[in-house]
Amino acid sequence: MPSNAAARSRRCPLCGKPRDETYKPFCSRGCRDRDLNRWFDEGYRVPVDHAPDGGLDGDRFEDE
Ligand SMILES: [Zn+2]
Repeated sequence: MPSNAAARSRRCPLCGKPRDETYKPFCSRGCRDRDLNRWFDEGYRVPVDHAPDGGLDGDRFEDE
């Protein structure tokens, strides 16, 4: 339970600077745009680092 959670919520989630009322919860238009772009970007990007299931070969050894 961090006691500074309330204080942290007043800050820009991207860079941690004190947020601006105009661009809240961000500190500036730059950070707000950056966040929008991030969401936009993730919408197009397909997650490729999905580990395939069944990768048990490493722990399995044949008993000859
Ligand atoms: Zn910021």
